[in-house]
Amino acid sequence: MRATALIFSILLCEAALAQELPKTTAESSNYRSTSRYDDVIAFVAAIQQADPDIRVETFATSNEGRALPLVIAGPAGVVDPRSAHATGLPIVFIMANIHAGEVEGKEATQMLLRDLIASSRKLRDAMVVLIAPIYNADGNEKISTDHRKTQNGPPNGVGVRENAQGLDLNRDYMKLESPEARGLIANVFNRWDPLLTVDLHTTNGSFHGYALTYSPMLNPNASGDLIDFERNTLLPHIREQMRTKHHKETYYYGNFLNQLSPDKGWYTFDSRPRFGNNYVGLRNRFTILSEAYSYIDFRARVEVTYEFLHEILNGVEKYGKKMLRVAARADEQIRRGKLRKAGVRFEIKPWKEMEILWERCVLADSTTGVPEPENPGETPHHVRRTGEILPIKMTDYGVFAPTERDEVPFAYLLDAKAQNAVTNLRTHGIVVERLTREIQLDVDRFEIRGAKLEEHTFQGHHELTLTGKWKSRSETFPAGTYVVRMNQPLARLAFYLLEPRSDDGLFNWNFFDSSLEGEIAPLRRITKATGIDATIVSEK
Ligand SMILES: [Zn+2]
Repeated sequence: MRATALIFSILLCEAALAQELPKTTAESSNYRSTSRYDDVIAFVAAIQQADPDIRVETFATSNEGRALPLVIAGPAGVVDPRSAHATGLPIVFIMANIHAGEVEGKEATQMLLRDLIASSRKLRDAMVVLIAPIYNADGNEKISTDHRKTQNGPPNGVGVRENAQGLDLNRDYMKLESPEARGLIANVFNRWDPLLTVDLHTTNGSFHGYALTYSPMLNPNASGDLIDFERNTLLPHIREQMRTKHHKETYYYGNFLNQLSPDKGWYTFDSRPRFGNNYVGLRNRFTILSEAYSYIDFRARVEVTYEFLHEILNGVEKYGKKMLRVAARADEQIRRGKLRKAGVRFEIKPWKEMEILWERCVLADSTTGVPEPENPGETPHHVRRTGEILPIKMTDYGVFAPTERDEVPFAYLLDAKAQNAVTNLRTHGIVVERLTREIQLDVDRFEIRGAKLEEHTFQGHHELTLTGKWKSRSETFPAGTYVVRMNQPLARLAFYLLEPRSDDGLFNWNFFDSSLEGEIAPLRRITKATGIDATIVSEK
């Protein structure tokens, strides 16, 4: 074929491709509607039709039986985790719609996917992108205009926050009571081990001047090197790109303690790993929580989320190699037993004095007297907005510090009866072994001084807070006793799950309630390196 003819046929192919590329429901409805589950599935199928290198897996089946798609967009030849890891490239996982009333992530990830087979195809030479566009599919299908009424569209309504069990999937990362969360951990985090996870949401709270706010991991038990890299390099870079390329202001997620008195400070949310961003940090991996601003319209929220995703991927293209090294070093330090102490309970702390964009608000006409400050994160109903955005110097309460710490042991021992706990640990990907023969060991046991059950239920639980002390003794353990060694890469997570005083562990979530009659917690810890004959539990 002559060169001109070849060029002409290439142009024809590109034109055909452009014509065939699907539109999202948001686009085709002029941003009046968000995608239904079937729309997303049809969109992904059309993308696959246009580019057969795009793969799709099912990572979980929802309570109502919907297969949850994980779309894989990497270099040609990447078909599974093994081929992805063999490339040595960063793996980025983007998840949307965990809260199915917060829908712009679902639309923006579809648009991003379309770019990854067309205009942004070359990003796939630098990384593997995994996309879960519709995590809470069951919640999504309950679309109604009655949901999230303070959110600015889409006018035809959105889904609900909870899954079909009534669970908030962004509180289920530790206890894993939903099939969605169990599938996410087993089939995305354990199989693909993404270097960076991006979780897409919408705000509900304060009136501020940012189109989008974001958060890194907030639990101080995550590797300090990962936290520092995100806060000092990756997030400032993305923020600067959002400002210079897209002319949009973004900042760390938070809320004013009092919308009427911004000088009282800006507060981030929570350090507990029941939240995905904090959970991923405990796995020695990077994470970005994205919160589009609820009060800008749906089209603007889709747009800013889409731009933010592009800038994240550009950031990974720039810093991915460095990020891989930081994460590998965090794993290696644990293998070498460098993790000695970690927090069990935490408090919020001032991070920096910052100029933060506040929307000036005044007391609503109907309000009499100055009300108590709202809880940060709640929509301030007693105020009237003025539309005036002002930079105000205030304290950013953006970090947490431990109030109590404890030793990270050599290993934990669990009674052979603790099968529920062991199932949970293994679903997280934590290696659990069993003693092959009876053995006498010097151990610590946890003597319980106080056990307080929360009066109110949360996610179907009365959360339990234990107080007490570790005491040393010698004990004999039968063959079959479970062993969790703490020189494995997921040791930060294992510590958080197993420490009796942990604010988000298995004791907190009532896994051990039935064995708490005595004064002794039903696990032991070994603090000194000890030879133990054990085999890895591999039965399902
Ligand atoms: Zn949310």
